[in-house]
Amino acid sequence: MTLELPFPVDTVKGFLHPDEGEALYRHAQIQAPRGPLLEIGSYCGKSTLYLGLAARNSGGCVFAVDHHRGSEEHQPGEFFHDAELFDAGEATMDSFREFRRTLRRAELEDTVIPVVAGSALAARQWRTPLAMVFIDGGHSLDAALADYRNWAGHVQRGGILAIHDIYDSAESGGQAPRAILKLALASGLFRQVERVESLVILQRL
Ligand code: SAH
Ligand code: MG
Repeated sequence: MTLELPFPVDTVKGFLHPDEGEALYRHAQIQAPRGPLLEIGSYCGKSTLYLGLAARNSGGCVFAVDHHRGSEEHQPGEFFHDAELFDAGEATMDSFREFRRTLRRAELEDTVIPVVAGSALAARQWRTPLAMVFIDGGHSLDAALADYRNWAGHVQRGGILAIHDIYDSAESGGQAPRAILKLALASGLFRQVERVESLVILQRL
C-alpha cells in the first residue's frame, strides 16, 4: 500500500526527514504482518506515525517506548529545547500529551501501544520477538549502547533493526548511533540493506 498521510507531516514536531519516514514505512509494511514493531524514542510521534500507518494496514501493532522526559538536548537551555513541551507545573519536559494528540489525529490509538518508561526498564521483562526495532532514543554513548544491547537481540530472523542519526563524521553529528551500527555489523547477525539520510536499515540474518 502506498503511503497516504492523514495530515501534513510537518504539523508534527520531531526529528525525521520525510524520506526517512517513507523508508521506515516501507520496511514496517513488510514486517508488520510477521510480528510487533517497536521504537525507542517517540517524542511527539513523527516516526510513530509512519510505523503506525504501516502496522495498521495489516492489523499489526507498534510498541512506542519513551519516558517522554526528553533527551539531554531537549532540556531547558539546550539546543533542541521546545518550551511548548515543558510542563511548568511539574518543572519537567513532557512530550506525552503531544504524542497522544498525534496518535488520535492519525487514528492510531488502536494500533500503537505507548510504553511510557525508560528504555532499560521496558526491556527488563521483554520476551516477545520483534519484527522491527527502530532505535532513536538517547544519544549519549551509554544510552545508545544500552538500547542496542537491550533490544537488538529481540529482532527475529529476517526482521529489521533501524538506527537513526548515523553521521559519518563527528563534525556532522554525534557518533553514538554510529558506534552501535558498527557493533551490529561486527556481530555478524545483521547486514545493511538501506541508508536514507541519517537512517540505516539493517536486516537480521
Ligand atoms: N523518533 C522521534 C524523535 C525522538 S527524540 C521523531 O521521529 O521525531 C528522542 C526521544 O528519546 C525523546 O523523546 C526522549 O524522551 C527519548 N528518550 C531518551 N532517552 C530515553 C530512554 N532512556 N528511555 C526512553 N526514552 C528515551
Ligand atoms: Mg533521531
